[in-house]
Amino acid sequence: MNKPFIMTPGPTYIHEEVRMALAQPITNPDLDVSFFGFYKETCNKLKKIIQTKNDMLILSGEGILGLEAACASLIEPGDRVLCIDNGIFGNGFGDFIKMYGGEAVYFKSDYRRAIDVGLLEKFLSKDHNFSMATLVHCETPSGITNPIDRICKLLNQHGIISVVDSVSAIGGEVLKADEWSIDMVLGGSQKCLSAPPGLTFLSISPRAWEKILNRRVPIIGYYANLAHWKNWYQEKWFPYTQPISDIYGLRTAAERWLKEENPIERHEKIAKAARKSLMEGGLNLYPIDGFSNTVTTIKIPENIGFHEIYQTMLKDHNILIAGAFGFLKDKVIRIGHMGENCYEDKVYLTLKALDQVLRKYGVRPKVELHKAFTSYM
Ligand SMILES: *Cc1c(COP(=O)(O)O)cnc(C)c1O
Repeated sequence: MNKPFIMTPGPTYIHEEVRMALAQPITNPDLDVSFFGFYKETCNKLKKIIQTKNDMLILSGEGILGLEAACASLIEPGDRVLCIDNGIFGNGFGDFIKMYGGEAVYFKSDYRRAIDVGLLEKFLSKDHNFSMATLVHCETPSGITNPIDRICKLLNQHGIISVVDSVSAIGGEVLKADEWSIDMVLGGSQKCLSAPPGLTFLSISPRAWEKILNRRVPIIGYYANLAHWKNWYQEKWFPYTQPISDIYGLRTAAERWLKEENPIERHEKIAKAARKSLMEGGLNLYPIDGFSNTVTTIKIPENIGFHEIYQTMLKDHNILIAGAFGFLKDKVIRIGHMGENCYEDKVYLTLKALDQVLRKYGVRPKVELHKAFTSYM
């Protein structure tokens, strides 16, 4: 099969070094004690990436498992949980909150803008009786990055445990988990770290552990129960057999990220040049502010449909770009510039193809998108 060039906001292209790591011979991860050290070292690398000294775990399941595990483990029936919502993932957290018996109280913010911290501050000054709050670092469908630094500091002032879905931001946006007092940071393997889909990783602060280990009501379920993990290293015991090959891959991907001088600056630069070229071409971006470093969301121009763009990108150029889901279905196209896809040559080819596809259907960008992009690099 001639695999397309994937320029989607996850999964992303996997570097050959990571593919080679995946192919290494395995050991028995439950019985070979050296694997416990390997797993711990891999966690330490992830801790460096998100700048935390808190515990880190890698779980077998994509990013969504991290979201569910945080809610399953932290929420007790009747808990009031603040759901900070300016997009599809932010809103979706509310469903997990309710599923585990919490009362979801939504703080809603404009879906085309980053969360308004001033408004949140006002809201919290009137009502801050929450055991925890959920929020999203980068709203991947809309391409918006939220100021989690200010939000989490604010939550911390009110003694609220913060759970941040940073799945599509880790590695592409600045993240200082400890300095910003984030209790749980949730990540996934397939976005900016460019490992294959299949793993989630998450950090847990002492305050979050305390809540998890001192519940009135036991945690429902097994796979999403973080309490099982408390002493995995001391006891040399995992709750289930670890996906050792995937962990080999994730570790190599994390090492690649750590050895680069400034991967976040690379994401910033590419994202900015992509936006400028698209806007100069007369296309409209979905966000009004809070533009993401990792994904660009473009409103579909008049006189052309999502399927025409998507199919023609694929058929004529073998490039896969994404649409979105929920209320954004068929309204936007998304270009992922995450991790291994966040390089000038790849984004250039994508914009060149997009430019040609649009012209084929009579939509004429005011400048050649790819040339404008390069001029801003
Ligand atoms: C990709 C993503 C997830 C996880 O989704 P998976 O399909 O499990 O990889 C969660 N939150 C955000 C914001 C994401 O972009």
